[in-house]
Amino acid sequence: MHVCVLGAGIVGLATAWLLVQQGHEVTVLDRAVPGAGASGGNGAQLSYSYVQPLADPSIWAQLPKLLLSPDSPLKLRPQLDPLQWRWGVAFLAACNARTSRDTTARLLALAAESRTGFERMRAELAPDCDFSATGKLVLYANEAGLAGARAQVELQRTMGSVQRLVSPDECVAIEPALARYAGQIVGAVHTPSECAADCLKVCEALARALQARGTRFLLDTEVRGFDVRQGRIAAAKTSEGDLPADAFVMALGTASHRLARTLGTWLPVYPLKGYSITVDVDPAPGAAPQVSVTDSARKVVFARIGGRLRVAGMAELVGHDASIPAARIDSLVAATRAVFPGASAMTDLQPWTGMRPATPTGLPILGRLPNAPQNMLFNTGHGALGFTLAFGSAQRVAAALGK
Ligand SMILES: Cc1cc2nc3c(=O)[nH]c(=O)nc-3n(C[C@H](O)[C@H](O)[C@H](O)COP(=O)(O)OP(=O)(O)OC[C@H]3O[C@@H](n4cnc5c(N)ncnc54)[C@H](O)[C@@H]3O)c2cc1C
Repeated sequence: MHVCVLGAGIVGLATAWLLVQQGHEVTVLDRAVPGAGASGGNGAQLSYSYVQPLADPSIWAQLPKLLLSPDSPLKLRPQLDPLQWRWGVAFLAACNARTSRDTTARLLALAAESRTGFERMRAELAPDCDFSATGKLVLYANEAGLAGARAQVELQRTMGSVQRLVSPDECVAIEPALARYAGQIVGAVHTPSECAADCLKVCEALARALQARGTRFLLDTEVRGFDVRQGRIAAAKTSEGDLPADAFVMALGTASHRLARTLGTWLPVYPLKGYSITVDVDPAPGAAPQVSVTDSARKVVFARIGGRLRVAGMAELVGHDASIPAARIDSLVAATRAVFPGASAMTDLQPWTGMRPATPTGLPILGRLPNAPQNMLFNTGHGALGFTLAFGSAQRVAAALGK
């Protein structure tokens, strides 16, 4: 079967990889280059155990501060956009214990499949992607935060996660670069099995490997709509002309909603904007972290990728505005200086912004939908976990397509 994968982010490329393994002829199309979207500068975490959705009951207590505080990591700019409002209402409806628990269980299962898929790809391709499996610490600044984390650890224990609460001293034993910050935390959750890698390098390695195996790449080519005949998509309409195929996979990240609308399908995928910086680190032992660290108070993640530190955070509901305000980058710099004062001279920051393709519940949209042409499969809406979930989602979509 000839399958056209729309979108060369990590999700589209992982899908193409699985489809080629399954024996399909694959064309990958992107309006830019592989990894140009949210996959390019993300938090670099393969966060297989930290899948708790943003839509959580604890959001109700935090919401006023998150929305009103000037230095809040969450920002809402209300717009005349029905998607933003419908998404917001559905998000709040999902902020209850039962939905959050159900989503966590489903995402843990998908993440476990994804770990297996990623490892299989790594064994075959050995991509140069600054991969590490040094584990992760999520730091808590107060007892209330730690109590919530304890409850989540207990819940996830019943779902098979191996995590434990650790004291500030234990944090320093696990990650010596936290020595100067340990006094500002009351404890952390440690997950020894978490991994990190440079998602852009994974995208580039997959694109190279696919090309070497005969996959056609149509880059700088925008998909604008579809030629639908008798309920099936005959071709994707692109800036370079029509592209016929037997089946299509929509992996367009935050553009998925708009393109699905041309098929009469409503996808609840909204951009959740974030930022990152990437800095060279001081190689001296204990200066920069080896372990991935999330500072839950600042809502900032730190991941070591080779000789660099990726620092990422913030969640803004501001539409598709791709500007990078200096204040947001300053805030990431300040967080880095506070948590890891000796990590980097921070001369070159490489500021970046990206849009998480977020669904209200946090669950991605995988496979066929009843109200869309049956030769269109969806693989989108991975929110804050697209790198983590890419290979599991790709396996499910490839299985749904069949031979
Ligand atoms: C600040 C930040 C930190 C993050 N940290 C992590 C993390 O630590 N771990 C993790 O697992 N996830 C993380 N994520 C989420 C993760 O980056 C995303 O979920 C993931 O990149 C989504 O991949 P994708 O392939 O679906 O979308 P994208 O990477 O956005 O790819 C979509 C592709 O579609 C193309 N496209 C769009 N419209 C068209 C069109 N009309 N025609 C042709 N091509 C088009 C784009 O050019 C793009 O290449 C983070 C995201 C952000 C923003």
